[in-house]
Amino acid sequence: MKKSVETIRGDSEGIAYEMPVYRISGSSTEAPSAYIQAALHGDELPGVVAIDALMPKLRRAAAEGRIRGNLTIVPRANPIGANQLLFHAAQGRFDLGTRTNYNRDFPLLDRPDVSLLPGDDVAMSADKRLKARLLKLSVGHDIVLDLHCDDEGVAYLYVPEELWPAMEDCAANMGVDAVILWGGQSGSSFDEASLHPYLKMPRRQARLESRVVTTVEYRGTSDVYPDIAEADGEGLYRLLVARGVVEDTSVETRKAFDGVVAPIEHIEMVPAACAGAILYDVKPGDRVKAGTRLATIVRAPGEDGGRVEVLAPQDGYILTRRSHRATRAGDDLVKLVGTRPSSDARSGALEA
Ligand SMILES: [Zn+2]
Repeated sequence: MKKSVETIRGDSEGIAYEMPVYRISGSSTEAPSAYIQAALHGDELPGVVAIDALMPKLRRAAAEGRIRGNLTIVPRANPIGANQLLFHAAQGRFDLGTRTNYNRDFPLLDRPDVSLLPGDDVAMSADKRLKARLLKLSVGHDIVLDLHCDDEGVAYLYVPEELWPAMEDCAANMGVDAVILWGGQSGSSFDEASLHPYLKMPRRQARLESRVVTTVEYRGTSDVYPDIAEADGEGLYRLLVARGVVEDTSVETRKAFDGVVAPIEHIEMVPAACAGAILYDVKPGDRVKAGTRLATIVRAPGEDGGRVEVLAPQDGYILTRRSHRATRAGDDLVKLVGTRPSSDARSGALEA
């Protein structure tokens, strides 16, 4: 395993960010290669600790000559966002300088050729430099995993519809609870940018049936625990074994996924009708019927009629809820996976 440190120049002279990258060379040029990154949203740590749990397994496999495909791993993919704190609160989602989400506006390449990416000599902001660098590191890998987390949620994957059901084994091996399929555009997120060059190719050359691209939502921001990290590290390892990146006969891989699978259009982003304190009745993983109370918002505490109920718009599965308990009017409270398209279906990315 080789460690190198990428340097991203900051937005002012004298500032630079360091990003360790770990590489393992595989023994077979035929074997698929894999790229794994975490914390593109700088304050999302479940993927970081999952990678930390994965690494000893990879070191052991490397020492025993069991790594077949090339591996590139970036445990903390956004040192800029990780360093943003505002009044003691981490601000890892949006770049404070450009107001752009770190997982949007990645360059969309017409072919998997990193020479098309802007170099460090191009005058642009540090977040753009970071995005170009991450694509430079990841493009060309057969398996690309981008580890994130939601507010509070089950473990789930966003999978491009072009790669489903071929990626069913990935969901099964990672041990996630749900898969959300998306098509079209998602604001040039990292996963869209990772797949885009291959969608431009002739189908046979693109080998979509063996390609893996996914945004992994490892539950909620606070789900950072030793047992969960270990289980997620094992899930990642099982996926690498199943896909032939790593050889390990002691690992039982899985094929069929029995969790929730739904197109993104089925997601109901249930909004708050008013501002107030949220009292949730449901938690991620719950199943509800249309009309079930999802939450009560305490709008005018102490007053008769000061509470407003939020009801499920259709039968479904609670994928996520918010981690804060003070809501503004119109803020989304819950992601509910319905059995039919949402009347308010959002195309592309669900959130800003
Ligand atoms: Zn994220």
